[in-house]
Amino acid sequence: MDCLFCKIVKGSLPCDFIYEDDRVLAFNDITPQAPVHVLIIPKQHINSLITISDDDIDILVHIHRAVQVLVKQLKVDQLGFRLVVNTGTDGGQTVPHLHFHLLAGRNMQWPPG
Ligand code: AMP
Ligand code: ZN
Repeated sequence: MDCLFCKIVKGSLPCDFIYEDDRVLAFNDITPQAPVHVLIIPKQHINSLITISDDDIDILVHIHRAVQVLVKQLKVDQLGFRLVVNTGTDGGQTVPHLHFHLLAGRNMQWPPG
């Protein structure tokens, strides 16, 4: 499948690697929107939050466990961070492989644009 993030998982496209375990990969966003801007993705291809099957739903818990590890590794656990999942056209999703944006290192605005 011609999926950008599957290529990163396979190693055929380079990434600025941050973290990996058996089910997820994390790497720096190529266009950072904050001093810390990391993408956390499942290694298996899942289009978006709304297409996760019952069999795969536990990946969401796994990703949040990885976030707990990552924010400590990146030393943003004390000051805080924002976790964003853009979903679908109105949500602003541009890469159709489920990914969580971890944004930190500055004060975030609300509401987002
Ligand atoms: P979204 O718009 O929520 O689908 O997020 C996709 C994100 O992927 C954007 O923030 C892009 O900057 C980022 N991105 C696209 N290509 C790459 C890449 N090769 N390496 C790292 N981040 C990327
Ligand atoms: Zn994919």
